[in-house]
Amino acid sequence: MPELPEIETIRKGLEFIKNKKIEKFFRSEYKLRIDNDLDFEQLINQKILAIYRQARYLLIDLSNNKTLVLHLGMSGRITLNKNFHKLKHDHFACYLSSDEWLIYNDQRRFGFVDLIKTDEISNHKMLKNLGVEPLSLDFNDKYLYAQLKNKTSNIKTTMMDNKIVVGVGNIYVNESLFDARISPLREANSLNKNEIKKLVESIKKIIANAIEMGGSSIADYQNAKGELGFFQNLHKVYDRHNQKCCNCDCNIERIIQNQRSSFYCKFCQK
Ligand SMILES: [Zn+2]
Repeated sequence: MPELPEIETIRKGLEFIKNKKIEKFFRSEYKLRIDNDLDFEQLINQKILAIYRQARYLLIDLSNNKTLVLHLGMSGRITLNKNFHKLKHDHFACYLSSDEWLIYNDQRRFGFVDLIKTDEISNHKMLKNLGVEPLSLDFNDKYLYAQLKNKTSNIKTTMMDNKIVVGVGNIYVNESLFDARISPLREANSLNKNEIKKLVESIKKIIANAIEMGGSSIADYQNAKGELGFFQNLHKVYDRHNQKCCNCDCNIERIIQNQRSSFYCKFCQK
């Protein structure tokens, strides 16, 4: 699933479509997760004013005070291409004045495309309850301490809650907990202030590194130019079960928490 670093990498790759005009669009007959009979005619002749990201959502502001919201779900891709072949899973595309297509492809159709008034973004049902961005100053040890102090669920599942902090998906929470030397099995409210401080630092470090490396290319993630990311080569625990820990002689273990795989070292993470 494309996580925050992957979406941020796609956003960077789309920066140069700013100021381009949308000249045509394509919409497949298939339903996506939100299907609200959007009037995509509204896109025609609109200039792209800004491209930005909130959590795992890509937002494209248009000159008619509308914003295109794109979510990649489990398997979505956004690419820019001179040619558009209407492949089986291409569900939405815009032809731009730069003579290229912005193509949204989603094999499993858990993602969506939405078009809303720009000044109503903060009320969008998928965006309004989001927590803080992990790289923002709002995500700090005081904030996280307040969020965790009454939480009895395990720390791994808790940190994946978008109402607390956005975009720390399965890969990055596993890597951050290893970096902070904290066991994914700990109760969230059992972390002391030092551990919380370390966890905040680790999350910021891991997410920033992943963005730097162009994200993690597992499953079928690619950036807007169809290139792969490289952060998967730096995974220390994610998907490394039964392999040696990089820090001790133990093997990395894999367990299931809240129906998701957790990877950790029993010796290094307490
Ligand atoms: Zn270890």
